[in-house]
Amino acid sequence: MQTQETIQPLKTKPIDCLHFIDGKYVPSQNEKTFLNINPATEEVLGKVAEGGKIEIDMAVAAASRAFVGPWRKMPSADRAKIIRRIGDIILERKDELAALESYDTGKPLWLSSSIDIPRAAYNFHFFADYMASLGTDAYQMDDVALNYSLRRPLGVIGLINPWNLPLLLLTWKVAPALAAGNTVVIKPAEWTPMTATILGEICQQAGVPDGVVNIVHGFGPDSAGSALTEHPDVKAISFTGETSTGKAIMAAASQTLKRLSYELGGKNPNIIFADSDLDEVIETTIKSSFINQGEVCLCGSRIYVERAAYDAFVEKFVAKTKQMVVGDPFDSSSKMGALISEEHYTRVLHYIELAKEEGGVIETGGRRPAHLEKGYFLEPTIITNVNSKCRVVKEEIFGPVVCIIPFDTEEEVVEKANDTHYGLSASIWTNDLRRAHRVAGQIEAGIIWVNTWFLRDLRTPFGGSKQSGVGREGGMHSFEFFSDLTNICIKL
Ligand code: NAD
Repeated sequence: MQTQETIQPLKTKPIDCLHFIDGKYVPSQNEKTFLNINPATEEVLGKVAEGGKIEIDMAVAAASRAFVGPWRKMPSADRAKIIRRIGDIILERKDELAALESYDTGKPLWLSSSIDIPRAAYNFHFFADYMASLGTDAYQMDDVALNYSLRRPLGVIGLINPWNLPLLLLTWKVAPALAAGNTVVIKPAEWTPMTATILGEICQQAGVPDGVVNIVHGFGPDSAGSALTEHPDVKAISFTGETSTGKAIMAAASQTLKRLSYELGGKNPNIIFADSDLDEVIETTIKSSFINQGEVCLCGSRIYVERAAYDAFVEKFVAKTKQMVVGDPFDSSSKMGALISEEHYTRVLHYIELAKEEGGVIETGGRRPAHLEKGYFLEPTIITNVNSKCRVVKEEIFGPVVCIIPFDTEEEVVEKANDTHYGLSASIWTNDLRRAHRVAGQIEAGIIWVNTWFLRDLRTPFGGSKQSGVGREGGMHSFEFFSDLTNICIKL
């Protein structure tokens, strides 16, 4: 097995990114590009083709041709084989992809190579296997008639992605969309174009026919993103990103009545009862707070601790957090890397200042680490003495910043946990099974973990309640979204 020490990322150099349309890498028609910046060094990684309506039109036209052509006609067993092969090639090219992901995002290489890239491969393996198990419903009306449903692909699907887990989240959409027989046009996040670019080549290597997978780089509003959401030939949009962007996309997509699937923001509660095993809680809470620089939609940024355990938790959690090494993503001792961009870094720092204005106490962090002069690095930050009215407790910060708040009763913590327009995920820590069931049944969230975090079975429904999402992904739920059902009624 490869260890962190044996990885040699410098063999892989950052790449310039072109669009991938109809099986070819192409620049924008007007040759426009934008710069891709390394968040850990603030240096230029390369140039990215800046697409717009013209490139989206070209990509949708190619995807439309491919849909009625080879992809749809291919036997599903052959399609599954190709999809599985994409996963295999991702694993074969794991070191290269992991390095590109870390250059782009600033996340530690150990994280890209142990989570992002293997899970991206697994998404293809999982959906290739899952499609083989799909059946269809049949309803018999005594001896009068027999109904059965046919599952058919939708056509061209638009996939719009965020920057925090670039290839992992992209493949979570591409794999089921292809497995269901659709063709796709991908708009990767502008901050993280590199692994998406390579995915085009990998699909081709695996035998995906030209035009089935297309990638157009660019920005969101008035650019490639909005052109994709407005395109009349795009049948559905699967979007992961901010809640406010989801609203804009819904408005744009309403003109052509597109099917929408949304995975949006979160402000997730991590509820810790005094009877839980504190050492285990702290070990997982360090991850659920700061992994990927806190830039994971599922991070538990509101930590509620039962008062009897509050002081002990804060003391141990702060001590453990202070030991976290922030630094060069390619140094295997770095537990945390850099935030994605200057703009995002400034926004997160602004929230820390706001916390102070709101009376919050910064228990640790809140600053750039002294040894790092360049790059968007921030110490993991813990805030106490804040309450449900504070903006830092209400709003998604999407960085390594958590608030710890004490509670006295179960009713109180359920009310506090639900006091938000978000409803993505929650964690509950207790050794009392009845309480675990009771509290889990009352928390308004799409995903709830008991005594764990981020444990995923890809067959289960994944998605958010309230303003954290629309619809569910995973297993059958992904196929429901990426396909259409026709009922056929035969009179007997
Ligand atoms: P974002 O909404 O700013 O951007 C996401 C994508 O949408 C980008 O590709 C962007 O170019 C595009 N976009 C922006 N405006 C658009 C428009 N008007 N029309 C079409 N496309 C547009 O989000 P982000 O900053 O990249 O990602 C962070 C957010 O994503 C956080 O809120 C986080 O919680 C959320 N997220 C959610 C999940 C989940 O599974 N629920 C997973 C990861 C991230």
